[in-house]
Amino acid sequence: MNNCIFCKIIKKEIPAKVVFEDEEILVFHDIHPKADIHWLAIPKLHIDSMLQINYSHEKLMGSVLVKLNKLAVEYNIEDYKLLVNTGLKGGQEVFHIHFHLLANN
Ligand code: 5GP
Ligand code: ZN
Repeated sequence: MNNCIFCKIIKKEIPAKVVFEDEEILVFHDIHPKADIHWLAIPKLHIDSMLQINYSHEKLMGSVLVKLNKLAVEYNIEDYKLLVNTGLKGGQEVFHIHFHLLANN
């Protein structure tokens, strides 16, 4: 997606503090953290929002969650909130699907 800020982060056109990256997902620090730890986990495949997901994304979306939790445990984060804002009225500002992981020390 040309004008998507998160696709630009994936392509390294915009810098981000990356926590984890592999062929299918990227986890990075939110630029305006709302908790002591505030990560964003995204699939590298551009999907606008939860409204667009379907069974062709089943494995990918499962991978995001399994890998994100594994990462959290590796960082000794075992109490956290996961948030997925969906749609303008749902508080979504960036239309590349993302999971917020929020945790306090
Ligand atoms: P949303 O409201 O769409 O669920 O959340 C978007 C999140 O992306 C916000 O928490 C915002 O701070 C974060 N964000 C927006 N632009 C950037 C950016 O360029 N870099 C990073 N690391 N985070 C961003
Ligand atoms: Zn995108």
